[in-house]
Amino acid sequence: MRILLVEDDVVLGDALVQSLVNATYAVDWFRNGKEGMLAAQMQLYDLVLLDLGLPFLNGFEFIQRLRLGKQPVPVIVLTANDNPEDIVRAFDTGADDYLIKPFRLPELTARIRAQIRRVHTHFSSKIAIGELELDTKERMAFVKGEKLSLSPREFSLLETLSIKFGKVVTKDALIESLCNWDQDIGTNAIEVYVHRLRKKLADCNVTIANIRGLGYMMEQHSHG
Ligand code: CA
Repeated sequence: MRILLVEDDVVLGDALVQSLVNATYAVDWFRNGKEGMLAAQMQLYDLVLLDLGLPFLNGFEFIQRLRLGKQPVPVIVLTANDNPEDIVRAFDTGADDYLIKPFRLPELTARIRAQIRRVHTHFSSKIAIGELELDTKERMAFVKGEKLSLSPREFSLLETLSIKFGKVVTKDALIESLCNWDQDIGTNAIEVYVHRLRKKLADCNVTIANIRGLGYMMEQHSHG
């Protein structure tokens, strides 16, 4: 899952990036509205975390432009501004949620999960596909009740494929869901992760199919 963070407070921004990366999200952080908007136009994000008081393009203008571009990406506003009129204005402009600073990190990550769930129409933090079960809150996966040992990136990849179960996910989309702009992983790395995941899913009735030339698709099959 890839998050766009637009926040000009360096201390808060830094802390947020660290915590979100620890929670296995890929995060691109921009310190002004203009650069954040450019990023939003060039890259598909799963979620936007947006400050209101921003240089060049404020949060309200940011949401307006985003929605004019017909971008349905969920937006959570993070601001010290608790003026009720501004809260109403933010929602009316197209924000999906509003969190007043200072906030506790577990509350932010719970709201992030809720928004991502809403978009992908999952109603709980658990995803079950055949014998595979994912707990997207605890970042754990189980096969027939046994916990799989997965690296954070392996879990993220498995999560993306599970959320898009039965649909082809391109290698580029998988790379984007794993990486920040300042990191670089190639399609080879994706192949390595998929190879490892397949081994770990060997006993399970869920497989990651290679759709030649397109990407990967998670499928469920019945045992022999
Ligand atoms: Ca600010």
